[in-house]
Formats: sequence, C-alpha cells, structure tokens
Amino acid sequence: MSNKDKETLGTILRDVRVLIENEARRSRGKLLVSPEVAEMLEWVRMPRPPQDMPETGVLEYPDAVERLAALGEVEDEVRACTKCGLCRNRTKTVFGVGNPNAEIVFVGEAPGADEDRQGLPFVGRAGQLLTDIIVKGMKRRREDVYICNVIKCRPPENRDPSPEEVFYCEPYLLRQLEIIQPKVICALGRIAAQTLLKNTTPIGRLRGRWYAYHGIPLRVTYHPAYILRFEPNPERFKEEKRKVWDDVKEILKVLDGNAPAIG
Ligand code: SF4
Repeated sequence: MSNKDKETLGTILRDVRVLIENEARRSRGKLLVSPEVAEMLEWVRMPRPPQDMPETGVLEYPDAVERLAALGEVEDEVRACTKCGLCRNRTKTVFGVGNPNAEIVFVGEAPGADEDRQGLPFVGRAGQLLTDIIVKGMKRRREDVYICNVIKCRPPENRDPSPEEVFYCEPYLLRQLEIIQPKVICALGRIAAQTLLKNTTPIGRLRGRWYAYHGIPLRVTYHPAYILRFEPNPERFKEEKRKVWDDVKEILKVLDGNAPAIG
C-alpha cells in the first residue's frame, strides 16, 4: 500500500471512529464492533497528520463530549422537524458534520440533491473543492472544521429558501453555533451570506470585510459550486479561486489570533 493510500485509509478510519463515538455518546450507550474492527480503530487512535499540519481533531478536545451530546440533541430535533413545508419532500435532513470544537464553521445555504440523499453537507464536487480549500489552503483537515447549512432540508429544484423557511430553520444554526463557539464563520455563497447578514447586497460587495453574526466574526466568500462553473475556462477558474484564497488568507489571520476589524 502506498503512503498516500495509507493516509487515505487512516482518514477514513478516523472518520468512522468519530461517527461511531458520536453515535455511542448520543445514545448514551455502547456500540459493539467486531474484534477486527476494534483493532483497526485502535490503529487510528494516534493519527499521523500530514507534515506541517497540526495534530488536532475531535478526540483531543477535552469538552468535545459535552458539545457532541448537545449537538446530537439538536440534530434529533431537526430530524423530527416539520416546522416548514420543506419537511415534505426531504429524503434526509442535513444537520452538519465536523469538529464540535471547531475554530471555523463553514455555512452554506441549503442541501442539494446529493446532500439530501446522503444526509451530509457539501458532498460531491463542490464538497471536494471545499475540502481542497480547507486542506491545501488552510492546512487543516476537513474533520478539524465544522460544515453545515442555514437550511436543513432540501428546497425543491434547489430554489432559494423562502423567508419563512429561514425564519423557522435559522434557530437550529444559531444553536449549533452557540454550542461550537467558533472563532470565525465563513459564509459560502450569496444566499448564505445574504440570509445571515439579512440584506440583499450582491456577494461581490459583501466580500472583503468582516461582519459579526451574533457576536461571531463572519467572512463571506464564494460558494464552491459557483467557482466550479468556471472550470471550462481555466483563466477565469484560476481568477475566481484566487478570490477565495484572498478570503481564506484573511480568515487565517484571525484564526492565528489577529483581531478582525468588524464593520
Ligand atoms: S427546513 Fe428546517 S424548519 Fe423546515 S422542516 Fe427542515 S429542519 Fe424544519
């Protein structure tokens, strides 16, 4: 097995381990796994992060257990939620994934078709581009951050969420943020940004400055799906990715301890 394959396997096993532990904590019980699986999971107890990446992750955080349990309770509520009409056509609710102690929370607008099927945010090609931004740009692992949407059920035909749907669903996001207490929120795309900031300003004008969302510094950047639209045009694709990189650099400064100039 090549080193890259080993690294990929390690990442998958770490994710599986976190999922199993989340499930066990949520149900406040034990989950039985075979000795072979237990041995494999033990193997990832001491992950070897890629060079120059910090050794972080859910298992190292002292109060992750409480936060996971609190997030699990909100997730249970979301799963049973029928507050707006989007509950009628959903396959699965899409609550959010990641580190309950994350320094940064990425917030998109709403699940698409793949997310609705899998119950996970940012899967597919847009999800892969987001992973590249996190891993290559921010030098963090995807499991170090938290990723979710404002709206937890898929709007039909991927239409923009209505104000009523935002009204009913946004409190779940607020509760997620209260539990996680990130240093920074990154709003991905026009709809997420306008919804969180309660305005209709074009995204090009929303970028480039810091805002506060319920006291948490917030930065706006483009949605990965928007960036992917330019893939057939390499020059434009590069240009749009560079804009995201500019946003990421500002976020990294704040994660490194610099105070954001809000307003
Ligand atoms: S979109 Fe939000 S408010 Fe509407 S049913 Fe789904 S979880 Fe409930």
